[in-house]
This record gives sequence, structure tokens and C-alpha cells, in this order.
Amino acid sequence: MIALKDVEFWFIVGSQYLYGAEALEQVAAHAEKMADGFNAAGRLPGRVVYKLVATTSDAIEQVIDDANHDKKCAGIITWMHTFSPSKMWIRGLGKLQKPYLHLHTQFNREIPNEAIDMDFMNLNQSAHGDREHGFIGARMRLPRKVVVGYWEDAAVQKKMAGWMRTAYGVLASRKVKIARFSDNMRDVAVTEGDKVETQIKFGWSVNTYPVGELVTYIDKVTETEIDARMKEYEKKYTMHTDDVDSVRYQAKMEIAMENFLVQGEFDGFVNHFDDLYGMEQLPGLATQNLTAQGYGFGPEGDWKVAALASVMKYIAQGEDKGTALMEDYTYNFTAHGESLILGAHMLEVCPSVAADRPRIEVHPLGIGGKAAPARLVFEGKAGSAVTASLIDMGGRMRLIVSDVEAVKPILPMPNLPVARVMWKPLPNLETAAEAWIIAGGAHHSVLSYSVTAEQLADWAEIMDIEFVHITRDTDIAKFKQNLLLADIAWKFR
Ligand code: MN
Repeated sequence: MIALKDVEFWFIVGSQYLYGAEALEQVAAHAEKMADGFNAAGRLPGRVVYKLVATTSDAIEQVIDDANHDKKCAGIITWMHTFSPSKMWIRGLGKLQKPYLHLHTQFNREIPNEAIDMDFMNLNQSAHGDREHGFIGARMRLPRKVVVGYWEDAAVQKKMAGWMRTAYGVLASRKVKIARFSDNMRDVAVTEGDKVETQIKFGWSVNTYPVGELVTYIDKVTETEIDARMKEYEKKYTMHTDDVDSVRYQAKMEIAMENFLVQGEFDGFVNHFDDLYGMEQLPGLATQNLTAQGYGFGPEGDWKVAALASVMKYIAQGEDKGTALMEDYTYNFTAHGESLILGAHMLEVCPSVAADRPRIEVHPLGIGGKAAPARLVFEGKAGSAVTASLIDMGGRMRLIVSDVEAVKPILPMPNLPVARVMWKPLPNLETAAEAWIIAGGAHHSVLSYSVTAEQLADWAEIMDIEFVHITRDTDIAKFKQNLLLADIAWKFR
């Protein structure tokens, strides 16, 4: 997968011939200056490439055909410096397969009091032209992001940057490959789903490989390779165990899984504690260290959470403040709406969410019947975050996102041998959990301190799936009404 810093966003500026060649030259000069300004500001994760001043249907169709085919192009940014009649955009936009940002700005920040005349007005009329352009997007029901404001402002560029990351998540999503080292945990419903529909909608390829095949990779790992991985562990983590053999076995599994994933160009994987035939331990530290490199992971065969984690890690690439598989585990009910969720998993929480340097510990596992696995133990960091869960409603996918405030765990919990994160969902645990359960959200989710609800909403819109957001303003009666209306709406799509 191409790196985010190497992708391009094509800047297509709309106009028409009505204003004469001189005006079009000025429009082009302004557009070039803006593209240079965007790239020089250093706020955007990808590169803006000025393409053309579009004045004909043929030119628009050509640039969109090119954008569709160009592997580096992650999306288009349109802006109407002048008025560009939108019927001439229909043929091109009808073929667009890349994410689409409509930037509503103008070249000059303010109206020049003395200098303004009708020539100036005719050249600087985005307020007018972008409304014509907005109509055709609405009329064609195109998924698109509209960003409004002065192009040099940090707030505008920050919004563009967020969308660029989403667009990169769309590009990555089309190719996400998940290796399943197990089927779903027996009889569990929420981790199931339609893999064909998922591949049609998102592009995710999700296929099973026998655990025995992975075991042949484990058998091939050498002691020298394990020594090198142990050195990496010692650099990143604090050894808090005498059971070196257990840690070495995790290193062995990690190297084997990594070899398998690299060879098959996978973005993530799933396994299941009850399906480890030929393996001595459940991968804990091994999985954690792999997810820290960007792999998505799902336990108990949960391929949807693995693929979602992979996509969210792509969106956060290069500035991830923490994105991890999470599970709502147990509650701390306190008064005054301050109740907290304790999130954890059997072992596999990604150390990107750790507040401090993680410790490697070895403890027996209550289930699965295997040897005591080494794992990373840490507390999660405090801060604003989201939890996201993708479920199959039968006929459509639904992405549920909950805004949360993570806190430093309020209890030391010295006998809890796993990574843990504590958070308060907004507006409070009682309302948020009620909404989450009404909407059918899973026990597994992806917790992210980097990916925002806005990015996930935009991603869901482009992917043409339902998006449900639990916020500080969530009101259960309205929430239920919206789910009912969405259920009806989605039946007709
Ligand atoms: Mn689980």
C-alpha cells in the first residue's frame, strides 16, 4: 500500500469561456498559487496537485478518468473560482470513483474596498459558482465533503487534512486483506457477517488459512531470529518476568505470523483462543507487537473488527495517538453520571494506547487450555477518543461510533494481568450504553484517540453504509426515532 505522504489530491478548478482568455489565465495562476500554498503550509498529510481550469465536459471527463486510473490519486478537490455551469460536470462526475471534496473558498480573503468593480466581481465569484457546483453534487446524490472557509486558514486546512486521511482510508480499504486463522467463535452472532457483501462495499478480502499452515511457519523460525526480536522487546518494553521461554515463544509466533502476513500482503488477521491446534500459547505479546506496527487484529474470529482496525490505522498513519482493538469488559457504577467502563481483552490490546512503557508479564490463561502466555500489561492514556463497531444488520452494514473521554484508571488493579483502558462514554455510561445496545453495537470495538467521528462518518458515507453516532447530545427517544427512520430509508436504497 502506498504511504499517505506519497498520495496526491487533484485540484480541479471550475470556470467557463465566458470571461475570456485573460480571466482564465488569472484563475489558473491563482489555483497554482493555492496548491503551492497548501503544500508549503505543512498541515496536509498528502500532496495537492493542481490539474487544470476545467471549462468543457470533455476536459472534466478526461481529468476524472485519469484520477480514477491513477494509483497515487486518493481523491479530487474541486473549487469554482468563477461560475462553471454544472451540466458540463455531469458526464465526468457520473464516472468519479475517488473521494470528492468540494472546497468552498475564494482566492482573496477580503473585499478590496477601492479596487472592487464588476471585473473583480466576475473573477472572484465562488460564492456564486460554488452554489451551482453544490447543486449538481446534491442532484446526483454524490457522496462528498464540503469544506467552507478561507483557504489559508489553519481551521480550513485542518478540516481538509482530516478528509484527506479519510480518503486515504477509502483507498486502503479497497485492498484490505484479512487472514483468518480461525472461524468465528462458535454460536457468537455479532462477530458474524456477510463477507461477500463486505467485499463488494468496502473491498475487504477475508479468507481462512489453517492454523496448521501457520504452525509450519512457527517451526521454521530460528533461535537467531528470536534473539533479535527479544532485543526489540527489551528496547520497547520492560521485562517483568523470569519466564523467558514464554516470552521467546511469543517472539517465535510473532515472527511466524509476520512472515505469513508479509508474504500474503495482509493488513490484519484474526485468531481464536479455542482454535490453536499445534500452538503452545495464545498469541498475546506477539499480536500486540504486530498491531503496534499497523496490523488490524480481531479475536474470536472477529474479522470485521480486524478490518475496521486496519482501516482506522491507515487513516491515522504517521500521527497515531493510539488505535486498538477494545472490548467493553466491566463497569464501575458511580453516582452523578460519572460511571466508567473498564475496557480490556484477554491479551491483545495494542500498546499504541499505552500511557507509559508497557511491561511484559507471564500469567496463565483461564480458558483455551494452553501454556501461560506472555503479554503486555499497561494502563491506557487519558484523552478524547471514539469507540467504533461495525455490525451486519442483514442487507446492510451499520457503523456505530461513540464519543468517549478516556481517563487514567481510577483503581490500580494490581491483580489484573492485562492491558486496560478506562473511559466515560458521552453523555454518560447509562445513556451511551443504552444507545449502543439499542443500535446493536458489539462487545468488540476499535478505540482510537486519533480517528474522529467526523472521519468515520465521511468514510461511511463514501462506503454507502449506515452511520450511527452516540454523542454528548444523544437523547434516547430521538436516537430510536432516527434508527427507525434509517431502517425504512435503507430498505429503499
Ligand atoms: Mn473478545
